[in-house]
Amino acid sequence: MDEFELIARYFAPLQGEGDDLVVGQGDDGAVIAAGSSRLVVVVDTLVAGVHFPLSSPPHAIGYRAGAVNLSDLAAMGSSPRWATLALTLPEADPHWLAEFSSGLAAALQPAATRLIGGDTTRGSLTVTVQLIGLLDGEPLTRAGAQPGDLICVSGTLGDACAGLAVHAEPPAVGSEQMSRDWLVQRFYYPQPRLALGQVLRDLAHAAIDISDGLLADLGHIARSSACAAEIDLDAVPLSAAHLAVCGREQALRNALTGGDDYELVFTLPPSALAALRQQAVELCVDITVIGRIETGSGLHSRAASGAATAVLAASGYRHFS
Ligand code: ADP
Ligand code: MG
Repeated sequence: MDEFELIARYFAPLQGEGDDLVVGQGDDGAVIAAGSSRLVVVVDTLVAGVHFPLSSPPHAIGYRAGAVNLSDLAAMGSSPRWATLALTLPEADPHWLAEFSSGLAAALQPAATRLIGGDTTRGSLTVTVQLIGLLDGEPLTRAGAQPGDLICVSGTLGDACAGLAVHAEPPAVGSEQMSRDWLVQRFYYPQPRLALGQVLRDLAHAAIDISDGLLADLGHIARSSACAAEIDLDAVPLSAAHLAVCGREQALRNALTGGDDYELVFTLPPSALAALRQQAVELCVDITVIGRIETGSGLHSRAASGAATAVLAASGYRHFS
């Protein structure tokens, strides 16, 4: 039984019915109609040794716990407002706690989000942050993609996965080490795309943040929207540092199946692309068109370059539902 079967079997029945729920289980966040407001609620847990290496700096752990939740709100087009923190700690080390709380503040304060409660317990290091945001208008969900839409991504993909792979390697020299350091920062300090999410609420049909890799997360859009997604593997944006450290083939593999980037993948009608590009320049976010939504189901990939063809041939990504 995978995570999704487990939720469908044991927890979906507890959702019940009622028009106070605008979006329920199965998207990046739940949308609640509360009086005249719409609230978006998200929660994510980071377990030491599973979601981050045991050697991670406490500042980075705190930052990441905030940022990955902000990213889910970004994917819903919501503005974050309030946070709660459930923290399980093996011991109360003042230095560790000062660094952790400063990292959490570094994520929450620029997003104007206040920590309003939580729970503190003793045990193996586990960090759960819940966020509540406001929503102006209609939510951006995984389910609205339409045939003919362009598939776009923000930023570059696969960097965080590469950063995690190299973080414990012995030091290299010169530019190789600079590239590695940049990739490690991409893992520890993901940038939640909140301003982009606001823009997408008016322009995009569907969006999700990339926490589990492009194929897995775009697969959620295709499934929820009952459409197929066709990706041009040569168009997937890869950073210079990633290419320098891993080479094109491995970098593309990281981008397709490595998690933790927290960029957004979204779909929009071709007529909205010019407006998006203009706003993206103002936000200093790179946007890349990587494919198109089609009728049908599943993900379909094409590739022309040698590296992308090799990745495609080795992986069976060509067609799966
Ligand atoms: P994300 O990667 O965006 O954080 P997840 O893959 O963690 O999303 O979760 C997928 C969906 O399943 C979300 O809508 C989430 O709220 C829901 N979900 C996950 N775990 C549970 C659970 N134990 N009970 C109810 N819903 C859950
Ligand atoms: Mg998400």
